[in-house]
Amino acid sequence: MRPILITGASQLLTMAGPKGPRRGASMRQFGLIENGALLARDGLVVATGRSADVERLPEASDASVIDASGKVVVPAFVDSHTHLVFAQPRLTDFEMRIGGAKYEQIAKAGGGIASSVRTTRAATREDLTARAIYYAQQALSHGTATLEVKSGYGLDAESEIRILEVIRSAGLLSSAELIPTFLGAHVVPADTPRAAYLKLLTRELIPHVAREGLAEFCDVFCDRGAYTLEEARSIFRAAARNKLRLKIHAEQLTRTGSAVMAARMGAVSADHLDCVTKADIALLAKSRTIATLLPGCSMYLGIAYPNARRLIDGGVAVALATDFNPGTSPTLNMTLMISLACTQMNMSPAEALVAATINAAHAVGRGDRLGSLEEGKQADVAIFDADDFREIPYYLAMHTCWMTIRKGRLVWSRETQCQGEQCDNHSHTPHS
Ligand SMILES: [Zn+2]
Repeated sequence: MRPILITGASQLLTMAGPKGPRRGASMRQFGLIENGALLARDGLVVATGRSADVERLPEASDASVIDASGKVVVPAFVDSHTHLVFAQPRLTDFEMRIGGAKYEQIAKAGGGIASSVRTTRAATREDLTARAIYYAQQALSHGTATLEVKSGYGLDAESEIRILEVIRSAGLLSSAELIPTFLGAHVVPADTPRAAYLKLLTRELIPHVAREGLAEFCDVFCDRGAYTLEEARSIFRAAARNKLRLKIHAEQLTRTGSAVMAARMGAVSADHLDCVTKADIALLAKSRTIATLLPGCSMYLGIAYPNARRLIDGGVAVALATDFNPGTSPTLNMTLMISLACTQMNMSPAEALVAATINAAHAVGRGDRLGSLEEGKQADVAIFDADDFREIPYYLAMHTCWMTIRKGRLVWSRETQCQGEQCDNHSHTPHS
């Protein structure tokens, strides 16, 4: 494969900085290079620097060139929390909520997670796979190259395994990397007694999923209406015994103590965290657990946003994700999350971009390979129509992504979108 040279960028943000999750002041370190260039070969970053310097490197001479003038180049986003596999949008819930219905009323009317479980169980494997690929394509178009994807709309052995298999096939067919997480512990299914379902999870499903390599992570929704702290702990113990890494939906609707439990058990991330206390923050700051904030939910439900400032100023490593799901956050637009982080959560543009790239990569255990553009790391790049990186959050839900590259290969570009069949994928000059 010929090397690629992305050159002439108004700004290149490498996110180069200290190893490990970024916290405190290092969340504002983003490695800005004006008039920047990046050289990649065999899917890996070879060099970054001022365009004039990188263009002079011997390997640049036979590289295929992407002219990034008038563009901002950043590491491709990592969306570290999605529920990408489901059968149908929840349009009745949507209208009921607009009419003022609360979560409990929607559930009573047959909506909520239970309705996604019903339709997902009934859908064919082919339909679920096609839909997952379509959604992954949407993510690519917004500059995301890697997505964590949870099961959790099956809630019985056969359906949960089928969803994990769908994630695997969609990952093979999509240009994005899909990282599978087992979320059999989303809620307790209505058709199974609580104790029996917990036994199924801890004694059968978790060992099976781990043995078959169907998931890397195990997640639990620990909250009112889902799993108790004690139940979450027993699920985590089973997951850890089976070498699955841990993630948790924590402190979203109520404060349960789950974030602290997760940090103590070495969870890779604790997500949501709307209700964390000062003491929780102090403990999270001392751990390697990433706090993943999901502003899409707050916006869509019209509820308060998590307090990012308290977490960042308290020394916690913060990441951002979409929480893409059919009930509370039907979007895969990471630039919208970055905008919401700035406008609603008082994160600076630099902090929000760090949270969506390098810290998000750490939130899926890939901080050593993804999330920054440093020598030897994977050449996953998003290029935006902008002269200044602050335009990425400034423009609200505008489609400013111009090109997405994964492992040094073009995986999405606006030109291909515009020109359809006529487009030559390898000509990167913008048409006027
Ligand atoms: Zn979620």
